[in-house]
Amino acid sequence: MTAARIDATALTRELLAFNTINPPGMERACARHLGAILEQAGYKVEYHEFGEARTSLIAQIGDQGSKAPICFTGHIDTVPLGAAPWTHDAFAGETDGDRMYGRGSTDMKSGIAAFVAAAVELAPHLARSPGVTLIITAGEEIGCEGARYLADRKLLDRAGALVVAEPTANYPYIGHKGLAWFEVETHGVTAHGSMPEVGENAIVKMAHVIGDLDRFRFPIESHAVMGKPTLNVGTIRGGLNTNSVPDEARITIDTRTVPGIDHGHLCRSLESLLAPRGAKVRKIVDCAALYTEPSNEWVQRVFEACTPLLGGRPQPKTITFSTDGADLKRGFGGAIPAVVLGPGEPKLAHQTDEWCSLERVGQSVDLFRTLMLDWQS
Ligand SMILES: [Zn+2]
Repeated sequence: MTAARIDATALTRELLAFNTINPPGMERACARHLGAILEQAGYKVEYHEFGEARTSLIAQIGDQGSKAPICFTGHIDTVPLGAAPWTHDAFAGETDGDRMYGRGSTDMKSGIAAFVAAAVELAPHLARSPGVTLIITAGEEIGCEGARYLADRKLLDRAGALVVAEPTANYPYIGHKGLAWFEVETHGVTAHGSMPEVGENAIVKMAHVIGDLDRFRFPIESHAVMGKPTLNVGTIRGGLNTNSVPDEARITIDTRTVPGIDHGHLCRSLESLLAPRGAKVRKIVDCAALYTEPSNEWVQRVFEACTPLLGGRPQPKTITFSTDGADLKRGFGGAIPAVVLGPGEPKLAHQTDEWCSLERVGQSVDLFRTLMLDWQS
């Protein structure tokens, strides 16, 4: 087998042409396009659908000896375009100097193009080594559905390390906080607004709930790298008209957690805190924290590989957004080191006129090639 070469810029443009806006996602055609490229290069490719046309793919190459492969992952779905008009076509991959525009250019089709380009080029070499696994997921933007499906159905084989190619401008982050969203509801008894004393006001109950939440303390106050866990009341709804006593009110809460805070335990703590108010608590979104100690030997090698590019050794930091990484790590048995590292611009994720830097994409291909080769030695 001779080495094939793929231009990561051209591949990013090809991927942008697939409309994978989630909802509804519809990632099948994009996944099949990548699968065909990888199959051609000698990869064994499997497709897994968690819903109609909601396709993730796993591509694997290597001899599966005693050392597990290194895994690279990215999601092919994107967020919607938003209400503001774009000045560039969101699906054409238009370039202007170093920038390529398009929905998903930064988050994160350029990251996928970079690891696929490196993986295709190295395929003949990787075939005789511990190898590489690529996991390209559908449905990340709404609750990591694709990654969760792969982990829950035990469809993941094994990996020794994980690179999540989300947009970090090629800075290696050692994880992110967890995210747990809750809905809280209070109920009352409706009555005419002129006679509130005969009703029971659900909004007043909710006001007390919010007071209780304001005083809530997490079991772990702070983490050495991630800082403090947080709680935000994001929405509130209640009441139908001004001249009635409301019999129902709802809020949603966004918590961002640090390693050591179990989301099931957090839910039970909130339930018992709010039970005296008669409030019901339901967990609606759950994504675990991702964290690897900076002293980990492979993390240090990643830092080493990034140093020339960054003009200095990276400091241990975590990124603000969450990723598929936590679910995939769980699917791989939970003990592997992981970094979040990709060519996109973190500030441009989900923005109007999203773009990626083509120079960074080229640097990312080199970096991923280095990490893939380093793993085989
Ligand atoms: Zn993303």
